[in-house]
Amino acid sequence: MSLVKTRVLLKANLHHFPENAFGSIASLVNPAVSRARDTLVIACSELGAAPDCISFGNHNRFLVLQHLAASIPSKSECEGDGRHSFRKIEKEFEKHDFRQLIVCGHLSCGVISHWLQPVPAGFVDVGGYRIRFEQGARRIVENNYSPGSATKRLELMIFEHVLCQIENLLTHPFLRERVRSGATSLHGWVIDADTARVYSYRPTESAYVII
Ligand SMILES: [Zn+2]
Repeated sequence: MSLVKTRVLLKANLHHFPENAFGSIASLVNPAVSRARDTLVIACSELGAAPDCISFGNHNRFLVLQHLAASIPSKSECEGDGRHSFRKIEKEFEKHDFRQLIVCGHLSCGVISHWLQPVPAGFVDVGGYRIRFEQGARRIVENNYSPGSATKRLELMIFEHVLCQIENLLTHPFLRERVRSGATSLHGWVIDADTARVYSYRPTESAYVII
């Protein structure tokens, strides 16, 4: 799938993020001379090194963690499970002062496409990834949009899924506090791997815009 449009408009008021939670692209570009590891990227496991290819400034600034469909558990999902994937994010924050956190999905995501298929017989949802998707982006798209085609439906799921993961991030108190105090700024990205273009979420417009 390849888009030619420069912006993807979503429905307003489906997500409620703290004011100023999202950083500007300028805030990513400005410290380009910095050599500190100041940017955490949580990307889909399928994406390979793609986020590095579009990094600004020194590559050492970026630490990339790869999760299935860039999926992030909420605080309530992590209760009683010391091995959940959020623990890894917490540990990296203990080592590095991440000023920017980018959740990075991508068009043509095979994982999300797979989750839209009927559940295979005997399927076990290890890690709860599929149910997280079904209760997040899938529910939001099916309750609020009327996509005219399967392609458009998948596209909406991919863009909404990134925002659902940012909501999940913000359920974790230490991260919510970092965002509230301005220590960390968030970015929601969807990469078009065919064109290497990046769509970045702008909360004031409820839209993703090509950067
Ligand atoms: Zn993917």
